[in-house]
Amino acid sequence: MLEIEKIVLGPVATNTYIVGDQESKQAVVIDPAWDGAVLAEKIRQLGWGIQSVWLTHAHFDHFGGLADLLTGLELSEHEGFFVGLHPKDMNLWRIKGGAIMFGVPMKSAPKPTHEFREGDLLSVGKYEFQVHHTPGHSSGHVIFHCESEGILFSGDLIFKQGIGRTDLLGGSFSTLMESIQKYVLPLPDETRIYSGHGPETTVGEERRLNPFIK
Ligand SMILES: [Zn+2]
Ligand SMILES: [Zn+2]
Repeated sequence: MLEIEKIVLGPVATNTYIVGDQESKQAVVIDPAWDGAVLAEKIRQLGWGIQSVWLTHAHFDHFGGLADLLTGLELSEHEGFFVGLHPKDMNLWRIKGGAIMFGVPMKSAPKPTHEFREGDLLSVGKYEFQVHHTPGHSSGHVIFHCESEGILFSGDLIFKQGIGRTDLLGGSFSTLMESIQKYVLPLPDETRIYSGHGPETTVGEERRLNPFIK
């Protein structure tokens, strides 16, 4: 079974997901938002081995906990371990994801070591996820889709009855809506969406109730 632990962290209540394959005990962290030491402790309790860290995008509230997480679990030492980000968000990463602009003090995070590309296949134990490049909220925003389990990690592309803001650096409303049309709406109704903020939803529910989707 694929297990999903959601932890809400940081100054703007961002969802961090620890996603693990129960059998192999292998897991990944999606968007280590804040409090990396807390995350490391949680992972230790779960007894999971972290294969990699996947960033949906480089806003500060999605990787503010990265530095302490890596230190807490000595992750950089693990063979095959990587921190992934789309290259189009590297500039945003360099300015700490806007943390300074928002007046939020943030530890320098180690540089991502893996570049995500459209269509990449990633694994969590025996489960396969596909990366889709979904710009609009930021230039290098990506989402992670596990077709076999009907699960989508949508970052700040789409929320329960909402969408990501498009007034920040690299943002574009029309581009964001195109990304949703292309990679979210074609999915089956029952696909569960785990977004970067707020509660879980489904593709069907958003098709019916999201005020931005008509
Ligand atoms: Zn964001
Ligand atoms: Zn966010």
